[in-house]
Amino acid sequence: MYINGRWTPAHNGATFPTVEPSTGSTITEVPRGNAVDIDAAVRAAERAAVSWQFTDAVARAAMLRRLAELVTENADELASIEAMDSGHYLAKARELVAALPLWLEYWAGAADKIGGRTIAVPGNKLSFTLLEPLGVTAHIIPWNYPLLILIRSVAPALALGNTCVVKPAEDTSLSALKFAELVHEAGLPDGVFNVVTGYGEEAGAALAAHPGVRGITFTGSTETGREVARLGGQHIAQVNLELGGKSPLVVFPDAALDDAVEVAVQGFCSRAGQVCVAGSRLFLHEEIADRFLEMLVARLEMAEVGDPFDENTQMGPLASKKHYDRVREYIEIGKQEARLLYGGGRPSQTARGGFFVEPTVFVDVPKDARIAREEIFGPVTAVMRWSSVDDLIATINDSEYGLFAVLWCQDITNALDTAKRLQVGAVMINDWFGELPMAPHGGHKQSGVGREEGLEAVHGYTQVKHIGINLDRSLAKSTDWAGAPL
Ligand code: NAD
Repeated sequence: MYINGRWTPAHNGATFPTVEPSTGSTITEVPRGNAVDIDAAVRAAERAAVSWQFTDAVARAAMLRRLAELVTENADELASIEAMDSGHYLAKARELVAALPLWLEYWAGAADKIGGRTIAVPGNKLSFTLLEPLGVTAHIIPWNYPLLILIRSVAPALALGNTCVVKPAEDTSLSALKFAELVHEAGLPDGVFNVVTGYGEEAGAALAAHPGVRGITFTGSTETGREVARLGGQHIAQVNLELGGKSPLVVFPDAALDDAVEVAVQGFCSRAGQVCVAGSRLFLHEEIADRFLEMLVARLEMAEVGDPFDENTQMGPLASKKHYDRVREYIEIGKQEARLLYGGGRPSQTARGGFFVEPTVFVDVPKDARIAREEIFGPVTAVMRWSSVDDLIATINDSEYGLFAVLWCQDITNALDTAKRLQVGAVMINDWFGELPMAPHGGHKQSGVGREEGLEAVHGYTQVKHIGINLDRSLAKSTDWAGAPL
């Protein structure tokens, strides 16, 4: 682990295996940090916090820019680690890693431009705000996009003057450790960035509960997010949650169907469906539904599922045995609730083992079916037909989630009217989700609070200080807000 600028085992020497999901074999042992190690990391981050906060923003930005360069220089190794440890297929892992410097550069650019505001208070006074860092921020990371989700939250935290303790997911610790090496090389002072590996219930819970942690950013399941918010609430930490979704992909009768089919496949097969914004509810207008499903099946016949290191692969395995079992269970539930149109089994070409599932399509899905309401987080979609826009919107909004939606529709008035009425954090029209450092990402309802990315993320990593100055030099002349003497 990386604590206070040094490499260290868990204090008691405990370790746990990390497994390659495409083969099921152990890659290596990782330190099993617990509350003692978390305490050491948070204390190191607390000690580093004051001087990091008052380091010139341009100097913090320069270190983040150097870090961005180091990510680029080490891109091949980072992509291989991500493919081996998390099951991303290598070509996709390379694309992702190539994009990561954008997040570091965006926040390096923002570091010396973010500030408070002046306020027009009555009387001869000057009133303004400072935006100050929170202090120590905790970053609890999931296994689906380990490095992207780590960098997208530590980049603003560090740029804005916070010090960080990262707890990667137990299934995918390795890229966070490699990233810590690069942080060290980039010259960030000891204690500014720390990584403690370990299990969620041990290291993760201890981090969320630590009173020295002033802000928590968590990405993962709604259930765990609720627990993290409860633990953080005990010491009134500011909490950002980016949680699950059951995102709709809606095809209107005038949609360009070739593109809509391609995006539907991306929607539930990209990253084997292990994406918070996965388009796992497919709403087809009844006029185009039969044609669309024929095209969808033909496209899925061409999908290459298999070894992440094979350059033809378009979909790798699920990230762990536990998650594989969970997705398989949902497929069995789906067979009871709806009609299986495609997939449902193991792809034949994955003979060497591993946690692979075929792209799976259920049709005739009742809107209250579990596979239509619950986040499966695998390559499974629930197809529903629609004819009335009002009913469509009511069905989509009747969900505890509200993360994201995709609309395929040529008529811009229909598209924008629908976008406005959906209770979700983002809507893409005739496009697929492309995560960007400059566009806010987050959910409505139980899909989360706060925003990752975009300037909106500033609020997740800063707190406001209001400063007022009486310019009258004499209290006698001052008045309060109502114009009355003080
Ligand atoms: P999780 O939410 O339990 O784990 C995410 C992170 O939280 C990991 O680092 C984990 O170690 C940590 N964690 C677990 N329990 C904790 C606790 N009590 N206190 C503090 N930290 C804790 O996710 P999971 O169990 O690995 O996956 C379950 C489901 O979560 C998935 O099937 C999927 O539905 C959802 N998920 C969503 C996202 C997303 O991007 N929104 C990402 C991963 C998983």
